[in-house]
Amino acid sequence: MGRTSKDKRDVYYRLAKENGWRARSAFKLLQLNEEFQLFQGVTRAVDLCAAPGSWSQVLSQKIGSPQGSGHVVAVDLQAMAPLPGVLQIQGDITQLSTAKEIIRHFEGCPADLVVCDGAPDVTGLHDVDEYMQAQLLLAALNIATHVLKPGGCFVAKIFRGRDVTLLYSQLRVFFSNVLCAKPRSSRNSSIEAFAVCQGYDPPEGFLPDLTKPLLDHSYDPDLNQLDGPTRIIVPFVACGDLSSYDSDRSYPLDLEDGSEYKYMPPTQPPISPPYQEACMLKKKGRLAKEIRSQDCPISTVNTLLQ
Ligand code: SAM
Repeated sequence: MGRTSKDKRDVYYRLAKENGWRARSAFKLLQLNEEFQLFQGVTRAVDLCAAPGSWSQVLSQKIGSPQGSGHVVAVDLQAMAPLPGVLQIQGDITQLSTAKEIIRHFEGCPADLVVCDGAPDVTGLHDVDEYMQAQLLLAALNIATHVLKPGGCFVAKIFRGRDVTLLYSQLRVFFSNVLCAKPRSSRNSSIEAFAVCQGYDPPEGFLPDLTKPLLDHSYDPDLNQLDGPTRIIVPFVACGDLSSYDSDRSYPLDLEDGSEYKYMPPTQPPISPPYQEACMLKKKGRLAKEIRSQDCPISTVNTLLQ
């Protein structure tokens, strides 16, 4: 595969490099903002699951008061290259210690916006992936309940799976307006969308409590089958200019203005990705190879699987 093939296959990947964004995800946040004016009046924001940092780049450029730039706290499991004006925390957002560290930065001065583009490592087992994604969203929501100002906004990646209705109901407990948005740069072939929750308004008497995180350890399949009046259907909004690039299409490399295509390297390669060791082993030819069943007799496969 040539180094330009990804540019051809994924126009947003290419545009991200051309515009200096660390990841194509930047366009998702920009398109969500076009629809919902998320950054209006925002001076303090939290970017959960932020690496490699394109949402933090967007936030640090778009928020702030006329007197000065905004305050962005970015959190991820993975180390992220520094960004001017962005305070970084490396940690797991489902862990109490990380939640406490984030909250510490907003004591006495709450955030206007909390965003979470978190995605677990997908397994391909849809139910497991959806469950993990939901847990990440609930961990983010739990943090948001501690740091958001009344009326604040929460935006989080959501998988539109079978049980998404339960998540919408949980979000509706805390926000006056919840809807599901699909930016143009998010592939139609992906179940990914974004819950846009505006007007933070927790129930009267609600006290954010870190000792009872919203993580659902006692999964109740009956509760997940919300139907009848308990079923919440939230509006679905497609956003971003619908005449702009289609993320499911391949585009030719020639630029529309007639200028010659020039390959550009990624803006900021990951500084310590989890696959680093595998890349090194592969270079040295020491990475274990997958054994396909047609390559060896059944008896050998069985032995290898034991
Ligand atoms: N919004 C980012 C950007 O624009 O560059 C891209 C985020 S990427 C799609 C998803 C990120 O979620 C990964 O960097 C991953 O490390 C992070 N993540 C997944 N689970 C996490 C967890 N439990 N705590 C913190 N970060 C997590």
